[in-house]
Amino acid sequence: MTNVTQSETTHAGALAQIVCPSCVTPNRVAPGSDVQAVKCEKCGTALFQGMPLDVDDELLQRHIALTSDAVLVVVWAPWCGACQFIESDLIDAAGRLEPGVRLLKLNSNDSESARGFGLNGIPALLLFSAGNEAGRTVGAMTADQIVDWTHARLQASAQSTVRSPGANRARA
Ligand SMILES: [Zn+2]
Repeated sequence: MTNVTQSETTHAGALAQIVCPSCVTPNRVAPGSDVQAVKCEKCGTALFQGMPLDVDDELLQRHIALTSDAVLVVVWAPWCGACQFIESDLIDAAGRLEPGVRLLKLNSNDSESARGFGLNGIPALLLFSAGNEAGRTVGAMTADQIVDWTHARLQASAQSTVRSPGANRARA
């Protein structure tokens, strides 16, 4: 279903890997790079734009599989009032969480992935670190709460998964 191939392995080495928002090519970014200046090696699109990215199921899986750092997925729906309510908070949070965390928005309508998550409500936040789920929460949150929750979950998962391969990478 996804186009993730064996050669596009991730979660290794000192360079962070991030997926281009435009052509979805995985790019390697040197630690300490000027985030604003980093552009896709293939299409030239800025890799970080201070905005959540809208994704479908296939793009979602590609980002989770090929992003070496964290991916925060917001599951929402057009009919959900609380989802519209937090729209500006998501943009604010995206700008503050980049480049360590890639923020994605998944419309739950017609999404197999959203159903597979078994959520009991939306908006829902699902956090993935090096491809593994590191936390989830349901309900509207402010930008401050989203940023704080994300950092707390990443810290907790780094401590609880010391033996997993993904946790052995050097952190900036
Ligand atoms: Zn690109």
